[in-house]
This record gives sequence, structure tokens and C-alpha cells, in this order.
Amino acid sequence: MDIAVGPSNIYEIPDCIDGVLEGRKKILAAGKQVRPEHDNPAYHEDKNRVYISISEGCDNYCSYCIVPYVRGRQRSRPKDAIINEIRLAARAGISEITLLGQNVNSYGNDLGDGCTFMDLLNYVAGIEGVKRIRFVTCHPKDTKEKLFLAMRDIEKVHKHLHLPLQSGSAKILKAMNRGYTPVHYLGLVQKLRQYMPDCNLTTDIIVGFPGETERDFKDTLDLMKKIRFDSAYIFKYSPRPPAESSEMDDNVPEDTKKKRHAILLETQRNISKKKKGRHLPMA
Ligand code: SF4
Repeated sequence: MDIAVGPSNIYEIPDCIDGVLEGRKKILAAGKQVRPEHDNPAYHEDKNRVYISISEGCDNYCSYCIVPYVRGRQRSRPKDAIINEIRLAARAGISEITLLGQNVNSYGNDLGDGCTFMDLLNYVAGIEGVKRIRFVTCHPKDTKEKLFLAMRDIEKVHKHLHLPLQSGSAKILKAMNRGYTPVHYLGLVQKLRQYMPDCNLTTDIIVGFPGETERDFKDTLDLMKKIRFDSAYIFKYSPRPPAESSEMDDNVPEDTKKKRHAILLETQRNISKKKKGRHLPMA
């Protein structure tokens, strides 16, 4: 192995390769974020759309997740750097922008310049050539009504919200350190549908988290049936050291995880089939 590069240092890869070609034996690039102010606009994988990172890392420490350990604490990119990058992409003919962050709702909390994610959406919408704006991912604990209003009012924002539920059990959400309850989540969905009845809603769910009983699983199933997501990504829990839950007893048998996974998949399949692009009210 000649080069080892950490996730925050991928922008150093060209320099690392040059280093090896120039005869340096082993190169290690790891540590602080080295992302340049904007990417090279000459190259985009897709001629119509581009993914723009607005922040890296995460401060949330959900108990099953390793992101804060491997990507570090949240670091938002300054608004001007994001806008410049998008402007350059738009000038190159790219019209669809996807804004990426582990928790877009907390964008800017670490910058202190007062620019919120909703402000950022407005700035991006004002860029000539940008026709559609998407974003991922939202965290239910930080998602506010103001976001739904911005989505509704900014025409260029695609009417789709990915809002990871993870579990419909209050006990399991607490053990996951998610910072919200199923009641809070349901309240968000009701507000979202009040403002935008036709907004597409998708989610992530984990089954078989340590301590998940049949009762907890049924709470998830019931909430899923009530909300009727447009689609759901369903995962079987597995421990990921050094995340906190890897210290917990992984006590839901694999067969049970498989069974619960299959039940949720089938339930979502049926809901999606019934919806077929139509927007049904909550059950
Ligand atoms: Fe952050 Fe998402 Fe991981 Fe939670 S699941 S720690 S919000 S990246």
C-alpha cells in the first residue's frame, strides 16, 4: 500500500498520487477537512445534476451510528463557497442540485453567520440556471415547520422529504438516542401534509435494535401503516463499533430480525402499490 486517505482528505488524492509518482514511499492523508473552496467545475459525472456537500460530519451520536466517529463533528461549508460551486455548475449547464448533509436542518449552527438551511435554499433558488433543488437528509428532531413553508413556497424545491423514522417505539428511539418520540414524528408528518398534501415522503427504519420486543416492533408497524410513506428503506440492525449500541446486548435473534424486516417490506410494498403516485391521507 502506497497511499492511505481519510474521508475528510479525498481532495488530497491527486497530490498523494503525484507524491508517489515523484518517489515518496508511503503517504498518509488524514485529519482536518481540506475540502477546497469549490470543486473543479470542469468535471461533473452527470451533465444535468450535481451533488453539493453543504456540511460534513455530525454532532448527533445516534447510538447505532459511526458517522460522528469516522467523519467527525459537523462542519458546515460557508454559504459563499456553496453558492460559488453551484453557480459554476449552473454555468456549465447543470440544472438540478442536490444539497447533501448528514443533518441539513442543523446547517450553519457551527458557523455563527446566521444563515440557516432555509436561507440557503432561497439563495440556491436565486441562482440563474438552477431549475430543481433536492436535499438529504433531515433529522426529525431538528426539522421545523419553517422548512415545510420554505419547501412549499420555493417553487424550485422538489416536493420530497426524506425523514428517517428509524423506529415507531418511544423506548427504542430513546435507546437509539434519536432525540424525538413517535408522537413528535407523527406531528411533523401531519404538519407537512397540511402544508403540502402532495409532498412525497420517504423514510429509513431499523428493525431488531437491541431490546426491540414484539410490542416495540408492532408500534413501528402501526406507525408505518398510519403514515403511509411513499417508500421506505428498511434495515436489519447490526452493531457497528465504536458506536454506543455496539456495547449493548444484540439480543434480537437473526431469524426475528429477518421476519420483522420481511413484514415491513411487504407492508410498504402494499402501501406503495395502493398509492401508485397518488397521495392518500393518513390512515
Ligand atoms: Fe448523525 Fe444520522 Fe448518524 Fe444520527 S444517524 S449520528 S443524525 S449521521
